[in-house]
Amino acid sequence: MSLDHSLNDLSHVVAADRAHVWHHLSQHKQYETADPRVFVEGKGMRLWDTTGREYLDAVSGGVWTVNVGYGRESIANAVRDQLVKLNYYAGAAGNVPAALFAEKLIAKMPGMSRVYYSNSGSEANEKAYKMVRQIAQRQHGGRKWKILYRDRDYHGTTIGTLATSGQDQRAAQYGPYPDGFVRVPHCLEYRKQWDVENYGERAADAIEEVILREGPDTVGAIVLEPITAGGGVIVPPEGYWPRVQEICRKYDILLHIDEVVCGLGRTGTWFGYQHYGIQPDIVTMAKGVASGYAAISCTVTTEAVFAMFKDDASDPMGYFRDISTFGGCTAGPVAALENMRIIEDEGLLENTAAMGERVLANLRALQERHAVIGEVRGKGLFCGAELVADRATKEALDEKRVQAVVAECLAQGVIIGATNRSLPGLNNTLCLSPALIATEADIDRITDAIDGALAKVVG
Ligand code: PMP
Repeated sequence: MSLDHSLNDLSHVVAADRAHVWHHLSQHKQYETADPRVFVEGKGMRLWDTTGREYLDAVSGGVWTVNVGYGRESIANAVRDQLVKLNYYAGAAGNVPAALFAEKLIAKMPGMSRVYYSNSGSEANEKAYKMVRQIAQRQHGGRKWKILYRDRDYHGTTIGTLATSGQDQRAAQYGPYPDGFVRVPHCLEYRKQWDVENYGERAADAIEEVILREGPDTVGAIVLEPITAGGGVIVPPEGYWPRVQEICRKYDILLHIDEVVCGLGRTGTWFGYQHYGIQPDIVTMAKGVASGYAAISCTVTTEAVFAMFKDDASDPMGYFRDISTFGGCTAGPVAALENMRIIEDEGLLENTAAMGERVLANLRALQERHAVIGEVRGKGLFCGAELVADRATKEALDEKRVQAVVAECLAQGVIIGATNRSLPGLNNTLCLSPALIATEADIDRITDAIDGALAKVVG
């Protein structure tokens, strides 16, 4: 397919963008000499910019979001119908799609019970942190107020969530941060911190060491990505998750899983944690919930967590003292309902699992020919290739050359990602997260582009 985009119509758009838009995650100096890329249209996994150029999007809208692909008329129609019926109501009353989506979501999350709506991943995590703090006040006499987070994980861009950033370069310039957030070591075996047989259990035991150091009666929760995304696509080693669950139960610590990236099918199951047979207390999600067709995020809890807030209705402090104005938009849950229907009806979980295997197999074949690929990691359509200057020492390939590989793929019309200025000296992992509708031909085109780019940039 090709779309007819008239340059004449759209040149003023690029000028307006260049003059007035403050782009996320980018150094604006580059736009003094070159136009920013501005996208106009999308269909499936393909995008077109203002010049009419076509791209294959291997990162689902840049940041793992558009799980069901672009141009879904059924989502647009459902949102339109809902908006003319009732666009919004917030606060203590409910609305129809919010109730129906909560019911459908909870049916996919055994053991979970309550859905608290807001608009972004950061916000969903902030809500969870506030719940933990309030539980500390209400249930533990003010103790158990600390929240543990892991090196290399990321949970959002607000000051509160940046206080739990395991990615130093993202948080470095925005402190000071609030107290009570404590880091635990990462679990990436490729960059091992312990020379042991059972690495997964050892990495989990490191969490227990931090708990004992801080004092178990001061720790209320731990927040973890099921598979770390921007920190390098880190799939925890075997044995890690069961041990983490055991430690949480032993010390009465709430297990908060951040599914902002993995949620809604990205790894081939509804949620990333469901690969590991664990039972979280709190789960947050955002990006794939409505695939970017509307802004929506959810903080999902067990009934036991919810019950900790149930009190005498006359007590002004006796409930979760929180609101999200746009948590009352109906566009989010109605888009989310249709998004979930699509994932089910089109068998996208199964497709994700199968296509994910193909991505890994293709990347491993590339690894045999390109010494620069140190390790290939991933689950479902959530994969990474860590690039190294030297396989023996595992010295990271320098960031400029990693970015040159990304740029070369773009020159071939394929958009891939890389750990972007988040980890000092370790911004060296290529990231692939195509939409869950990807076909074998799409996957092969993506990995062929990487093959060509590595040959050109690294040799
Ligand atoms: N958690 C994780 C794991 C994320 O990757 C992100 C965003 N990249 C967030 C939270 C924050 O989400 P948002 O940008 O919607 O606030």
